[in-house]
This record gives sequence, structure tokens and C-alpha cells, in this order.
Amino acid sequence: MTLSDRVKSDIGFLGDALMPGPYQCYLCDEEDLIGEDGLCDKCRAKLKYLPNPTYLAPLDGITVGLQYSDEISAAVMRFKKLGQTEYAGFFTQFLSVPKEWNADILVPVPMHPLKKWIRRFNHTELLASYLSHATGIPYSSVLLRKNRFTFEQKKLYDPAERRKNIRGSFTADPSVKGLRIVLIDDVFTTGATVYECAKTLKRAGAEKVYLSAVTSPTH
Ligand SMILES: [Zn+2]
Repeated sequence: MTLSDRVKSDIGFLGDALMPGPYQCYLCDEEDLIGEDGLCDKCRAKLKYLPNPTYLAPLDGITVGLQYSDEISAAVMRFKKLGQTEYAGFFTQFLSVPKEWNADILVPVPMHPLKKWIRRFNHTELLASYLSHATGIPYSSVLLRKNRFTFEQKKLYDPAERRKNIRGSFTADPSVKGLRIVLIDDVFTTGATVYECAKTLKRAGAEKVYLSAVTSPTH
């Protein structure tokens, strides 16, 4: 049985193009001399790539792209809060999935359906779709669902509060059994959310759960 027979993977690419534009720098709106990465020379020179952070069970590995900065933070806000979906292509270039993970499927960190309805899209789903398009690894936004509305994690400063807030708020589809899954997220902070996602997937029988995130402020 092939993977697509076994799991509900999404069909089709959610984006219009891999990198729409770029007519302006994605980080500073500079209009001249923009490279294929969507950046001006000044912003490109300022980017700091991060070593892969240490991780704890139940995660089996993490990759992060960029060091968080004011510019990256502003770009993330434009993407997920202001609905500038062209940032999906821009941010996807900083996501990576190591070959040795032998990933079966990409799974975006889910958003509660009500929040998705309000925002009109889930930004991590867009990232997963773009990364799937770039890597050929399928993605699914139905294998893991958020079934409880929670406070925004970034508004909770105490790590124990963050863990409590998110506990038990996800449900995994039984078809994740035996799969090597890569969770896709934008910002990796304390990890409370992705650890809860990984726990839920492992309990449902996932073989491995990794995380690929665009940026991290804490490592
Ligand atoms: Zn720039």
C-alpha cells in the first residue's frame, strides 16, 4: 500500500508561484537590487543562520533556519496577522528537511478551525504546502487537528503555563501510525506547542516526529 492510500494527504499546491515578485525586499521594502531570495544586499548580509537546536523527546530532531530579529519578527507578523501570503514562498527557503530523516509527510502545526476562519488561512499550512512543492514530500493538514481554543502561547510567559494551556488540545488521525513526520512551524520558541503535537502524534503511533521551523529567538 502506498502512502497516499494510507493517509489523508492534501492534494494540490496552495500557492500561485514559488516566489511571487519579488519587487521589494521582503524585510525592508527596498526596491532596488533585489535578489532571487527576495532580499536586498543589506538585509541578506544581516541574516544569521542558526545551528540546529538541541531537542527533547518526544521530538526526534529539529532544524531551524534564521536567528529571530526585529526585521524577521515584523515579516512574520505581515505574513500571519496581516495576511500577506506571499511571505510563504519567502520563508520556505529557510526551512529544511535533512535527508537522513527519511520523512514520509509534512504536517503543519494546526490552527483551531475558528481561528483559521477568522484569519482565512493557516500560515503553517501554507509553509507546508510550499515546502512540499519544493521537496516532493507530501503534506497533510488533516492528520493533526487542534480541537480546543487556547490562549496565544506568546502571551504566556511562564513555561509551565504554556504547557498547561496547550495540553490535550490536539487530536491525531490513526493513519499516522508508523509514519516519519515533520512538523512545520514558523517560530520555535519554548517548544510547548510542538512538543504537545509530537506527544499526540507519538501516542497515535507515529514512528518519528521532527520539527522544521523558519526561525527561533531562543537558540
Ligand atoms: Zn532589505
